[in-house]
Amino acid sequence: MDFLPVFLRLHDVPCLIVGGGETASRKFRLLAAAGARVTVVAPALVAELDSARQDEAFVHVDGGFEPAHLDGQQLVIAATSDRSLNRWVAELADGRGILCNVVDDPAACRFIMPAIVDRSPIMIAISSGGSAPVLVRRLREKIESLLPARIGELAELAGRWRARVSDRLRDGGARRRFWERVFSGPVSDAALAGRTIEADHIISRTLTAAAAAGDLPAPGIAWLVGAGPGDPGLLTLRALQVAQEADVVLYDRLVSPQVLELTRRDAERMAVGKMPGGHCVSQEEISALLVRLVGEGRKVCRLKGGDPFIFGRGGEEAEALVEAGLPFEVVPGITAAAACGAYAGIPLTHREHSQSVVMITAHGKDSVDKLDWASLARDRQTLAFYMGVGRLGEIRSRLLHHGRAPTTPVALVENGSLPGQRVLRGTLAGLATLAERYEVQPPAILFVGEVAALAGRLSWFEGTGFCRDPDPAASNPAPLALSA
Ligand code: SAH
Repeated sequence: MDFLPVFLRLHDVPCLIVGGGETASRKFRLLAAAGARVTVVAPALVAELDSARQDEAFVHVDGGFEPAHLDGQQLVIAATSDRSLNRWVAELADGRGILCNVVDDPAACRFIMPAIVDRSPIMIAISSGGSAPVLVRRLREKIESLLPARIGELAELAGRWRARVSDRLRDGGARRRFWERVFSGPVSDAALAGRTIEADHIISRTLTAAAAAGDLPAPGIAWLVGAGPGDPGLLTLRALQVAQEADVVLYDRLVSPQVLELTRRDAERMAVGKMPGGHCVSQEEISALLVRLVGEGRKVCRLKGGDPFIFGRGGEEAEALVEAGLPFEVVPGITAAAACGAYAGIPLTHREHSQSVVMITAHGKDSVDKLDWASLARDRQTLAFYMGVGRLGEIRSRLLHHGRAPTTPVALVENGSLPGQRVLRGTLAGLATLAERYEVQPPAILFVGEVAALAGRLSWFEGTGFCRDPDPAASNPAPLALSA
């Protein structure tokens, strides 16, 4: 280990910065944030340092560095652009036992300043000992994005309760279990969602219960999570957090293996996929399973393709949980229409072509019969048909029958956002032939409307291929071969 990581309390501690440029100014900002009494010795100051002169805790010594400036200082930062001057400062400081940092010269440093993720009071420091600053920056960005935004508030809440908890729970094990509960249960959920008062109430109740019983009731929760269309990059940060926290993952057939990879390694994973036609586990069974697991105190991540509340039957599962009086949270996901539109280069709305988007399920004869085809056949709108692969012939004939033009552009997006994505483009008249010719398989979504024609020009994602309409009447009659 080249450097030992420590956190310094610098409140009211005299610190010296040698140099008055931008780097010195950045270091000053950090020392000032830590409450240090800062002296800057430099013949000139950049604007930020200059304006800090108003500050009581700030002293400017106008001129060059002299050894006497070290008198009474406990920490020094040499931040001039003169390497040998910096080294001289460091040597003198070392001789007097004062901690010294030299900017851009790790070898001369007694201490270095790490990259930080500051969610005070949570503070994460990252360092490569000066060998890979860019790598450190990337790590910091990763950590920034993984941490819930309000993690600092949660830590503050814990800080406020710490003494009371120690008072009332004398046993170390009980205390640890109590805090485990706080950081993984409804207290943490409420605090991270910004519901501070509620978090305070729950922690108070939990503490009373724990102190009275010596043990805690099991706190299960269900997260109904949208896993997006398949590309793991399209998961939300919240989805990733709960997938990492859950101890059981119930997932659908549409959840990609790449997304499943991101769930907690030691979580129990259960496939509750429903195949079109051949049901695996019925919706009632899934809801019952969910209720049972949460009731047992398990933290369940219910992962669904796309968005849980768009043709995802998330509503029914939420109802079952409400009925059972169990806590749950809904994490929205990117629904297939949005994702497939984006990945196929189909803007779902467009000032010139389409003013609205309709998401429709065309699954089963019943649902097709119940649709308002007259309204769906109107122009200047984009139709996004989910689960429609088996019903393309009917969709085509109903729309034509109600007056939609046979030349209306259509696009079928199969395996949207995944490496095997295919986009088949054609016209409404040629829809059934198009799908047959290319043997379209679920999951696929059908777009109908002028915007579908843009899929050629605006395509950017390299799936397996892009096909044009085999219909000779189509605007693009040429080659039928797949082309990437
Ligand atoms: N809750 C999901 C939809 C579930 S219904 C959502 O919000 O996206 C399943 C249908 O979604 C499929 O039949 C298909 O029409 C569509 N779908 C889901 N993922 C898809 C994908 N990666 N590519 C194309 N269509 C997809």
